[in-house]
Parts: sequence; structure tokens; C-alpha cells
Amino acid sequence: MSFYVYNSYGKKKEEFVPLKKNHVGLYTCGPTVYNYAHIGNLRTYIFEDVLKKSFEHLDYDVKHVMNITDVGHLQSDADAGEDKMELGAKRENKTVWEIAKYYEDAFFNDCDKLNIKRPSIVCRATEHIKEMIELIKVLEKKGYTYISNGNVYFEIDKFKDYNKLANLSMEELEAGSRVELDENKKNPLDFVLWFTNSKFKNQIMQWDSPWGRGFPGWHLECSAMSLKYLGERIDIHCGGIDHIPVHHTNEIAQSEAALGHKWVNYWMHGEFLVVDGGKMSKSSGDFLTLSRIIEEGFKPLDYRYFCLQSRYRKQLIFSFDALNDAAVSLKKLKSKIAAVAESVNEKDILDMGKIRNYKEKFADQISDDLNMPNAFTVLSDVIKDSELNAKEKIALVFDFDKVFSLNLLEKDAENLSGVDEELVERLIAERNEARSSKNWAKADEIRDKLNHMNIELVDTKEGVSWKLK
Ligand code: AMP
Ligand code: ZN
Repeated sequence: MSFYVYNSYGKKKEEFVPLKKNHVGLYTCGPTVYNYAHIGNLRTYIFEDVLKKSFEHLDYDVKHVMNITDVGHLQSDADAGEDKMELGAKRENKTVWEIAKYYEDAFFNDCDKLNIKRPSIVCRATEHIKEMIELIKVLEKKGYTYISNGNVYFEIDKFKDYNKLANLSMEELEAGSRVELDENKKNPLDFVLWFTNSKFKNQIMQWDSPWGRGFPGWHLECSAMSLKYLGERIDIHCGGIDHIPVHHTNEIAQSEAALGHKWVNYWMHGEFLVVDGGKMSKSSGDFLTLSRIIEEGFKPLDYRYFCLQSRYRKQLIFSFDALNDAAVSLKKLKSKIAAVAESVNEKDILDMGKIRNYKEKFADQISDDLNMPNAFTVLSDVIKDSELNAKEKIALVFDFDKVFSLNLLEKDAENLSGVDEELVERLIAERNEARSSKNWAKADEIRDKLNHMNIELVDTKEGVSWKLK
């Protein structure tokens, strides 16, 4: 069956034609590990997880490669910005290597909680310096580079399709990339492949190279590592939408210049999660993490469900109210499913025709550029359909949940073992204290928190009591 994806390269929905039958080579740009991933980053990884699982659902074999940007200075384009990894190391009194390891683990921890499946191959930038140097050598030999003030640059004017992905004029690209004026460059959009002379003088992460001791430019790792693990041609390459004008544009330039042919067939980009109209950014330090959401009384899968309610190419506005709506709706959905599960009669016979019919409807939606809202409609049609017996319904829920990954058939812990009573009592005591010191804002905040946990406060003669909503 056909799978349609929106290709940012050319900006239209296209039928996916794999390079190898029933196989997808997928590369997704991974995290920069100098801080926790924020929920915006996680939205992008959820989108990529759904993409991968949708292909797997349609019997494709997906080879998924993701990099870990574990060199902080690679974050900034050219030589701008700060060395994020060293900043993190100073802040936390750790070595840069410890920082990278700590935040990489934290990232995968978040992914596990969100039921994001691990990539087939995870590769760290610091472990692929040799491959990056080899790639620069090829580019140098083909005449795409120049050396200026000790650094090796990629000369974008030598690559004719430079602005094809972003489809912007050179002026727009320049404005968008916000590159610091660097008088060593021939064109302001040229980018560094290898630094030997950086403003970060005492760089700890440095390696020997034919151009001197230094470190690679930011964009190089994805080209070098994807080439190593996925070969010269890739089916799909993903990332967040912010990567279009700089990172992916530069990845294409250096990869296709080196290879001499087209590199990626489909580029897919996830839109941003925004808060109060603004972008959430890791570098500003002011952002929401998954842990913060859990502290507020939500479950990680409430956030996954929240993300799946809108299409990946649409901006998603985050608020705790909207997340709460999603959490309530997921809870209702799960209790409906639990009721169906309880009514299963072991003697029920599965009508494979009916099951196939719904499976096809579901497949039609996920293969329509991941139309997840419609896929949920198919799920609720299944639950409502009086022509289906409970066993058939559960078989379908099980099947769809391979893509949704919301543990739809698992009972919530609180239904089984009750809520964390100690936490509830502590919060109520804190609220009482806030009220007696007339700190109404804090008291309201705690009530909202309890509300998210589905706890209703009840005033009694003895004081405040509580019950499950
Ligand atoms: P980083 O760790 O900063 O390299 O970002 C990891 C991924 O998250 C990249 O694919 C980014 O494009 C994506 N990203 C960054 N900010 C947001 C956001 N606010 N919403 C969705 N995705 C984002
Ligand atoms: Zn990348």
C-alpha cells in the first residue's frame, strides 16, 4: 500500500518510494547533550517515533540512525555563541565528558518514559572524528574548501543547489542564519568544517587533523555518520523545522558535494512546540522538561497523547490546561477500553474480515503523512461499533497501539494500587500552611496540582479531606 509523506525538499506531499523494497533507511538528528531535552525537543522525537512505527506497522523494515551531539561547541554555527558543553561542566562542576554522558542518559530516560523506541544505531560525534576528517579530505580534493585564519571552510558558492531545501533567497538565508560577521569567510553563509583557530582557546575536546589540532564544525557529524551507517543514499532524513535553513542546508551541501549525487530522497520536518507564542529554547535555559511535567502530576504518556492530537506539521501550543484536557481525554479513552476488555468472552470468535477492514482504515490514516487525529477517530469508531465483539475490539486496540504506544491496554497504577497518598497528604498540608499565611497564589497552585492528579478536595468539619474524582 502507498505511503504518502510531505517532502520539505520540493514542499509537497509525495508517494514514498523506498530505495530498497520494504526497507526504510532513516536518519534523525539527535540531541545536543549539555542539558535536559525540553518538551519541544521531545515533540520532535515523538513525531519521528510515530513515523518509524507507522512504517513498521505497514511491514517496512526500518534502519534508524541517530547521532548524539556530544561536543558543545558544535551547537553553534560557525564560531558564534558559547561553548555549551564547557558552560554545563562549569555550572555542574563536572568534566565535559561527564556532562555529555549524564545528559545522554537523561535523554534516553525521557524517551523510555514516552515509549519512544531506541534507534537501530546511536552514534556519538566524538567517536566519529576520523570519519569527519575523511569527509573533509574528500571535499578538499574536490575543491569545495578553503583555509582562512587556520580554519577549513566550505565554500557554498561552489555548490549550485545550496538554497534548494530552504527555497529561500540568499538574503533570506543570511537573515535566518544569524551568522556573526566573520571576515575570514568569502561568503557569509560559508561554514566551518574544521576549526584549529577558535575563539574557544582552551578547548578540552580537541583532536589531531591534517589541518592542525582542533575540532569539527557542527554540521559535519550528521553527514559523516549517516554515510557510514546508511550508505550513500538515504530514504528519509528528519529533524525539527529550525534545521531547514542552516543545519540541513549545510548537511546537503557537504554530503552531495562529496558524493556527487543526490543524497536524501525525503526530508521531513516537525513543527515547533511553542509556549505563549514563543519558541522554547535549550540555550536560554528557560524551558519545560518532562520531569517538570511529572512533578505537576501528569504522566509522561499524557504528553505523548497531547502531541498525537495534532499533526506534526502544525505548530502546537503548549499550556498546562491543554495538557490537562489531553490527560482527562486519555483517561476516558483508557477506561472505555478497560470496560471493553472486561466484557471479553473467551468464546468470542474473531471475524478476520471485519478486523482487516478496520486495519485498512487505520493504515490509510497513518500512511497519509501521519494523520494521527484521524487514526484516533478510527480507534473510537472501533470502540463504538456494535457490529464488533469485545475480542475483536481489543485485538484492534492492541494493533493500533503499536503505533500510538500509549499503553492503552494497561491499567493505570492508581487504578490498581491507589494514588500516592503520602504525596497527597503532604500537598494538602502545604496548602493548609499557605492558606493560613494568606499565600493564596501558592494555595491555588497546589489545588491545581492536586486537580491534575484527579484529586478532589472536600471541606469537612475536621478540616480538608480528599477523594479521587
Ligand atoms: P537540539 O538538542 O537542540 O539539537 O534539538 C533536538 C531536536 O529538537 C532538533 O530536531 C530540533 O529541531 C528540535 N527542536 C528544537 N526546539 C524545538 C521546539 N520548540 N519544538 C519542537 N522541536 C524542537
Ligand atoms: Zn543533523
